[in-house]
Amino acid sequence: MKARTFRHGIHPADGKSLSASSPIRLFVPTGAGEAVYPLSQHIGTPAVPVVSVGDRVRAGQKLAEAGGFVSAPIYSAFSGTVRALEPRTAAGGETVPCIVLETDAETEWIDPRFDPATSDVFNASSVAAYMASGAPEHLTAEDIRAAVREAGVVGLGGAGFPTAVKLTPKNPDAIDRLIVNGAECEPYLTSDHRLMLERGEALVAGCRLLLRLFPGAVCVLAVENNKPDAIAHLSDLVRACGDARLSVCPLKTKYPQGGERMLIRAVTGRYLNSRLLPADRGCIVMNVASVLAAYGAISCGRPLTHCIMTVTGDAVSSPCNLEVPVGTSYAAVLAEAGGFSAEPEKVISGGPMMGTALFSLDIPVTKTASSILALRHDPVALHDASPCIHCGHCLHACPEGLVPQLLSAAAEQEQFDVFEKYGGMECIECGSCAFVCPAGRHLVQSMRYGKRQTGALIRARKAAETSNQTAQKGGAGK
Ligand code: SF4
Ligand code: SF4
Repeated sequence: MKARTFRHGIHPADGKSLSASSPIRLFVPTGAGEAVYPLSQHIGTPAVPVVSVGDRVRAGQKLAEAGGFVSAPIYSAFSGTVRALEPRTAAGGETVPCIVLETDAETEWIDPRFDPATSDVFNASSVAAYMASGAPEHLTAEDIRAAVREAGVVGLGGAGFPTAVKLTPKNPDAIDRLIVNGAECEPYLTSDHRLMLERGEALVAGCRLLLRLFPGAVCVLAVENNKPDAIAHLSDLVRACGDARLSVCPLKTKYPQGGERMLIRAVTGRYLNSRLLPADRGCIVMNVASVLAAYGAISCGRPLTHCIMTVTGDAVSSPCNLEVPVGTSYAAVLAEAGGFSAEPEKVISGGPMMGTALFSLDIPVTKTASSILALRHDPVALHDASPCIHCGHCLHACPEGLVPQLLSAAAEQEQFDVFEKYGGMECIECGSCAFVCPAGRHLVQSMRYGKRQTGALIRARKAAETSNQTAQKGGAGK
């Protein structure tokens, strides 16, 4: 099948060979220690603690419940004692409220099916047995959404949007595509690739369960063609399951192919802007790891306690893919990969294009953590910004068809009316423009600044319009 794609984009060196052939290994921290759970590990209202200082908890037990509709509960991956409810530093450098556990030397699980060391929930034979058991046919849409909500599943591609909310569009009958995002277009990251190879049966089963929510939809598993083994494996599984609603769609390898708007464009030809949700264009997009977490939740009520992380880069001793208990420190995860092999100039949480630079490893792993990337040389630090030479490279790289040099200049000169007029709010902060800029201009930072300031002005304008309308209505009534 011809690989699909979107216009523009870039081809950075992918660095994936460092860890792509490393099977996912369960990381079991040894000895007593500490686990830290930020109450905001998702988009929306923070979770609310249901434990108090001094409480004993077991792994798989709920620590905090959803704080509202757009929120998600948080579960412990350890047994231990609640030591504190206090602010701690998170990956972005901000201080956030957290539940702190003193963990036991040996982890005791609330249910053995939730323990990744003993659970067979993702094994091919268990998946086949569950799908043939008749249980899936009895699931209602509300059963599925409730299981996903209760398990604390959120978008594991990085966004952290509560999955149960995503699975509750205004009009489920208008959804005609469930798109599974297996692009993994960020350089260096390989965890989704490994999941597609190692847990493909559960992934396909998860897609079939989720399709029960959208009777008019088909499911497309979209995978970049730099992962031909995953495309072949999933194609075999889709054929074998005999469900004609499922298909595998190869995508051209290009960054940012995994961006939600680019993915929808490539798979369906439909265009989204910043004011539309995928559901407004008939699509639900879910990351590979999120579908697997949903499968675990629906098939056996398994809460989300672990995430899959790629620990990689030329400054890491043994690049690998790890199944990591949420709450562990980044430092412990790095140690599991053998630590640094050389002094890194840059350490990133996530990929090199959209990840967050880390200034400390004494921060907790959250549900959405995808990677620790340690690089001997910081590619950004090599360039000091110089004036724009009007080469137009950024324009040809931008997947949103924007003119980054014009917009970044507008933002820097505080011309936010120009920024808005020329579509600056459509920027997805992918970094493609900065990647190709020979002048090393800090285009993403300028775009981010422009979006923040322009967004505030737009909100103020709308508030003023609303209050004017209210005043006019009040006046008309007198
Ligand atoms: S960061 Fe924004 S302006 Fe730059 S290429 Fe990406 S979408 Fe375009
Ligand atoms: S790529 Fe850099 S130098 Fe070239 S036009 Fe864009 S901002 Fe200017």
